[in-house]
Amino acid sequence: MNSLLLSGGRVIDPASRFDSIADLLIQDGRIAALGPDADTRAPAEVARLDVKGLVVCPGLIDLHVHLREPGQAAKETIATGTAAAARGGFTTVVCMPNTSPPIDNSGTVALIHERAGRDAVVNVFATGAITKGIAGEELAQIGSLKKAGVVAITDDGHCVQNNELMRRALEYAHMFDLPILDHCQDYSLVSDGVAHEGYWSAMLGLRGWPAAGEELIVARNIQLAELTGGHVHCQHVSAAGSVRLIREAKGRGVPVSGEACPHHFVLTDAALAGSGKFWETDGKGVFGFHNGRAERPFWPAYDTNFKMNPTLRSASDRAAIIEGIVDGTLEILGSDHAPHCDYEKEVEFDYAPFGITGLETELALALMQLHHTGKLGLTDLIAKFTVAPARLLRLAGKGSLSVGADGDVTVFAPDREWVFTREQTASKSFNSPFYGWTLKGKPVATIVGGRVVWREK
Ligand SMILES: [Zn+2]
Repeated sequence: MNSLLLSGGRVIDPASRFDSIADLLIQDGRIAALGPDADTRAPAEVARLDVKGLVVCPGLIDLHVHLREPGQAAKETIATGTAAAARGGFTTVVCMPNTSPPIDNSGTVALIHERAGRDAVVNVFATGAITKGIAGEELAQIGSLKKAGVVAITDDGHCVQNNELMRRALEYAHMFDLPILDHCQDYSLVSDGVAHEGYWSAMLGLRGWPAAGEELIVARNIQLAELTGGHVHCQHVSAAGSVRLIREAKGRGVPVSGEACPHHFVLTDAALAGSGKFWETDGKGVFGFHNGRAERPFWPAYDTNFKMNPTLRSASDRAAIIEGIVDGTLEILGSDHAPHCDYEKEVEFDYAPFGITGLETELALALMQLHHTGKLGLTDLIAKFTVAPARLLRLAGKGSLSVGADGDVTVFAPDREWVFTREQTASKSFNSPFYGWTLKGKPVATIVGGRVVWREK
């Protein structure tokens, strides 16, 4: 019988609003006891982990990860992507279907499950495509994707432009009890934009990606969710108007939800002008750097590791994202971990692919911008990485520490400062804008099914 006792930590389980110094016993891959009986019920041969001074919480879930397998193994594999997840304190990742070939049929879902069974160090759940080949023209076999085990459908990286097709997708998905995760982007408005349309895109001569290009599709999704009863989850929300629309719709009971990524609540488009401009302007308030306590990292203008889709937006958009996270409008946090090879990113800004890695920095960035600034309590912050995504995707046994739940646990040091470096990266790719940053809050141990899969040396 395998068993593990975590003793003396501050256990926070948002699902049951539990927050107390307590012992936690995991036995045979499941949570067996929490509190005084954890120690008494532990068998004599139990493995012990002293976690005094650390936070112990349900294993973190990242519902927005690109593992790049099959077909793009130069960027990432299931092995390296899940190793990065474990380092970042994540016990479960949900992978996006824009692989090569895309995950748009039950055979490819089975392939992901088989490879994850062999190579993954954390749990992997797959999403399926909304449309065949993610081409936005014809619906994928949503029923057979569901049968094969996908937890949601999405064309992430792309966006279904045809409203009638999106309506049918929602009707089918609703019938099969699957949420749709949507990358909200109106192609006619955004065209070939690469930077938030505003002051900095004009100054830098970069083609604009207007906030309205996201807001229009968020509004469309709300209307269709209302019409069909199907749930739409808006991915990586970046614009103030999107937050306002989702807030209003949720207030009326429309089945819609929203997610925020750390880069959108830490950085702004001023970062595209280089670190000097960023620290002089929108970077002034960033936690840890606002008082000159941490050394301010340098990067040049047009650094392609600050290019992602949707783009970094203005300081007022960033403020609205944070406000939406704090008031519960955006109830889920995710990384949009999108690895790319160095050679792909080392080109002119216009030609570089969109996306950055994020699994290894997202917990720290969330703690810094949301918790250490006094905006969000630890329970509310952890909920956005645990019970909220588990509920949206109906991940049975995940996201809580109740007795009988899966033995997935994250241990982290909320106040520990560290510098993120390439040497510490388990991902196959290095396209992060946060190298050299002093971060506050560090994963210490990642436990999946009662087994320690990563531990700080
Ligand atoms: Zn996307």
